[in-house]
Formats: sequence, C-alpha cells, structure tokens
Amino acid sequence: MLDETNELVKTFRRIRQNLQLSSTPNLRLRIFGIKSRNRQYDLPTSSDNGGLKRITSLNPKFEALHFPLLFPYGEDGFHPQISYNISFCPPSMRRKFVTQREYYAFRLQYRIGEGHTLVKSGKALQHYCVDAFSTIELNRLAFLRTHQKDLRSEVYQGEKLGRIIIPSSYTGGPRYMQQLYHDAMATCQHYGNPDLFITFTLKPMVVCRVFHMKLTKLIDEFKRESYFGKTIATEIPDPHVDPEGYTAVVKFMLHGPCGIDNPKSPCMKDGKCSKFFPKAFSNETSFDKFGNVVYRRRNSGVHVKKGKVMLDNRYVVPYNRNLLVRAQAHINVEICHKGGLVKYLFKYITKGPDRQSSVKNILKNPRAGKTHLTAWFQLNRQDPDARKLTYAQIPGSYTWDEEYNEWTLRTRGFAIGRIAYVPPGSSDVFFLRLLLTKVQGATSFNNLRTVRGELCSTYEKACEKLGLLSDSSGNINFKHAKSDKEHLYFNAHVL
Ligand SMILES: [Zn+2]
Repeated sequence: MLDETNELVKTFRRIRQNLQLSSTPNLRLRIFGIKSRNRQYDLPTSSDNGGLKRITSLNPKFEALHFPLLFPYGEDGFHPQISYNISFCPPSMRRKFVTQREYYAFRLQYRIGEGHTLVKSGKALQHYCVDAFSTIELNRLAFLRTHQKDLRSEVYQGEKLGRIIIPSSYTGGPRYMQQLYHDAMATCQHYGNPDLFITFTLKPMVVCRVFHMKLTKLIDEFKRESYFGKTIATEIPDPHVDPEGYTAVVKFMLHGPCGIDNPKSPCMKDGKCSKFFPKAFSNETSFDKFGNVVYRRRNSGVHVKKGKVMLDNRYVVPYNRNLLVRAQAHINVEICHKGGLVKYLFKYITKGPDRQSSVKNILKNPRAGKTHLTAWFQLNRQDPDARKLTYAQIPGSYTWDEEYNEWTLRTRGFAIGRIAYVPPGSSDVFFLRLLLTKVQGATSFNNLRTVRGELCSTYEKACEKLGLLSDSSGNINFKHAKSDKEHLYFNAHVL
C-alpha cells in the first residue's frame, strides 16, 4: 500500500533502483527542511559522516519518516512556519506562527470530518506522544541555551560561570522546584504546618482531564464537608458491619502482594519492599523513636485473597473511610507530623501556576521608577496600619493597583505574599530580600538599613546587626553555610 500512496517510499525506492543500476554512483537523496525563521528552532543537524544523516525533529517529513503507518501518504508534520488562521485568532495574539506545543495539542484531538488514524493507533499513539513531548522539551532547552543573555543574569551573578542557567519558569527544572518549595514554606509560615498528607492516585488509563475533574470535585468537597475528624484507618473493615467500606478498601487500599510472593512488584528494591510492607501488627496508634507514626493494625483475623496471596491488616495503606467510599480511588491519607515533611510536598507537584500572589519585579531593578517596593515605602509613610507589616505580609491586607502603581486596602479575598527567591551569591540583593522578610514599616531604602537609629553602610551589615545571619543558638550561621543545600537549610530554620 505504501508503495502506491507514500511519496517518500516512492522516492526511496526510485533512488535504490538507480543505485542498483549503478549508473550514477554519486547519487544522493536530500530531504530539505524549511528554513528556520528564528533562533528558537535553530537546531543543529548532526552526524555528517557521508552515509545516512539525521534530520531534525523540525523537518516537516520527520513524523512521516518516523511513523510511516500513521502518515501513510508521507504528509507533512510540524515545521516552524505553520501560520495561524487569522480569523480564529484573538486580537491579543501577537505570534505569527503556530508553536510546536500548539501543533501537537491540535493533533491529539478527535475532530468531526477528519480521519482518526493517529488518536486510535493504540501504542503508536503513546509513542507519538512521548516523541512529541521530548521534541518540545528539546527545543525549549535549546532556546534557553541560545538565549542565556536574555535571562535576568544579574540575579544569577553569584552562580558559577560557564553553566547553563535554566530559569524557574521552566517546569520541572531545579529553580522551578525551588520556587515551589519556597511557596510551601510561605504557606506554612502563615497557616502553620500541615496536618495531613494526602495523595490521590487513579489508574493510568484515566485521562488527565478526568483526573482533573475528580481532583477538583474532591477539593471542593474538602472545603464543604468535614471528612477529617478522627478517622485515619489502617484496618480492613468488617464486611458484615461495613460492606461498602470493605469493598472499597479491598479494591483500592491494599498494598501488594509484594516480597517473596511477588518479587516483580514495582515497589521491590534490592529484594525488599521499598514502602516497608507488610507493617507490624499494633494494638494502638503510637510514634516510634524517629517520630514516625505507627498506626493501629490489630490482628483482627480479617483476610483478603489477592491472586494466590492472603492479605491482612498489615498490608492496608492508611485511608479515610468516607473519602475513599465517595471518591472510589486510591487516596492515601497520612498524619503529617512535622514541618520537615513539607519538603516532600513539592516533590509531588509537577505542574500548575504559582498559587501565591508573589511579589514580582521588586528585585529586578529596585531603583527604577515606582515599583512594588517603593510603593510600599510610600504606603508606610501614609498608613500607620501598614507599618505593622513586613513587605511579604502586605499582599494579605493590600492589593496592587495596576493603574496607579500603588498598594490599596484589600476589600475582598486573601493572598499570601512571598518575595522572589534570590540565591545567596547575589550579595546585596540577597540581604535586601532578607531585610524585607523581617523589617516592618520601612519608609525608604535608607530607612530599611537603619538599625536602632544607625544607618548601616550595606544591607549585609544591617542584617548582621539585626541578628538575621544566625539563629538564636548560634548553631546555624549564614557565613558557615557553603552549599546551596546548607543555604536552603538556613532559610528554613532562620527565616
Ligand atoms: Zn511492597
């Protein structure tokens, strides 16, 4: 079939015939791409060794060559010069061409009047999605590599030279994760440490949109109903007393079988269950010597057969009965006993916009024009109530007026403020930020570094004088912290 329909196949066959005839020994086939329109997609082609050559993922024929059966006619795939249909574009759209992400997002939909070859191709579709994801990532990273100078380099000055900086706007990058961590710390500072740690998992065949719908509904219910009085359970309910709960626990909340019974279980690492199942029986809920919770798991005699293995209370993942029955999904609920657990929270978050009203732009150029920061100084000069707050606390009681560039009293809603993270190597900016998290009611830059009536020559000296560079015991000291990790530790304990 491909011989008849696919122009690429036809061309390759023709070239092969000609080579076999060997009338033209120097024959070559070149597949031309589309000339790149800007540097974002300007990727190098590789392996110029005279034989076969690679083509870039931006070549319009890339997809057709990679997935001949999905594109039986050798159709064009993505290339950097696909124009928008102007009549469908909102006026705010400034770009002229479709981005790679938009192209793939368009491709992966059912549409009336179009063939569904791609979306119904099973495993080939999964392969296609993974390839699409990797090529988008590849191009994003290539963009960052070629646009290092455009990044806010002054903020990164303290970082080692020669390294490629991946900014926090890059989802999943180290700075992105760091921002999430600081968001979490800011949230904890305001609300206190979390009480429960809940993970919500569905089977992989459930598509993202359905998961999102379920999650939104769940969070909605959290807000309206009180699930969490006393009930975290780690035992299989009695089927005669609570058949509904029993069915749900058996279906969703039993770990394993793993260990000797099933050495191939995904939880197995080095011959042991990495989640430490089966747990020991225990008659009471208590804490072990490391401060971890040991849940009550009585030897009640209730058994459940999974495959050939009998599972009992030692295999139950902690759950909340009503929540589980309502949502019909694997929802693990654990007691969150220490603030230290917060650092695990952001490990689980892979997507989503910054939920805090973060105070932007302030450190970009504090002296240029009227910024959030200088407007704060002004506010402090006029409003005695504002003087009781630090800069980071301002968004809780005031909102930013875009039109007049000033802080006005908040009439509704609530926000937690957090000042953009600055690495310690950024010297003065780092200390300025430190002061802003502690000093209330400053009225100018000079006022900010005036401690007990004395104007300090630098922000660092002001921090030192205020005792911000070590904790009360003197054990954690900023000057002794050398690595990024130690600085994070410093931030978590002193700030
Ligand atoms: Zn296991």
